[in-house]
Amino acid sequence: MARNKGIGPFDPYTGADLGAGEQVEYSPAQQSGLEAPRFCPECGRRRVVQVTPHGWTATCSRHGTVDSVDFELR
Ligand SMILES: [Zn+2]
Repeated sequence: MARNKGIGPFDPYTGADLGAGEQVEYSPAQQSGLEAPRFCPECGRRRVVQVTPHGWTATCSRHGTVDSVDFELR
C-alpha cells in the first residue's frame, strides 16, 4: 500500500493530515472517547478496530495496537 497521503501527524479519528493543516471537527462520540480512533496518527492508515469487553483496540499493520485502557490511564 503506497503512502499517498501527506506528511502527518494524522488525526486518529478522521484521518485528516494535521501536519498539512487540515482541520478536524469531532462528533460527540469521538469527543467522549467512546469511539475508537480508526486511523493511525503516524501513517494515516486505517487501523483494524475490535470491540473488547472494556472498550476497544485499534491495530495498525505497521505501528501496532493501541488499547482504550491505555487512554483511560492518562
Ligand atoms: Zn501506522
